[in-house]
Amino acid sequence: MVPVLDGERRPTLLPTNSLNHFGYGLEFDATGSLGDLHIVKATPWVKHDEHYHVDFSLPCRPFSEYQTQATGKN
Ligand SMILES: [Zn+2]
Repeated sequence: MVPVLDGERRPTLLPTNSLNHFGYGLEFDATGSLGDLHIVKATPWVKHDEHYHVDFSLPCRPFSEYQTQATGKN
């Protein structure tokens, strides 16, 4: 959905579950904050149809780390 930083400004996962409508129910304030979460802001480089393309300067975490976080297994 959108890149977010945690309270220590580290990239983290947007908490999504059925209770927050898989992230669509999360309400960030005008500064892009929701508790300790902060949206990573970037300048859109093209707009067409009803969406924007944005390049973020955050490197992706290796996929294996997401699996570890999701399952608790290495
Ligand atoms: Zn497009």
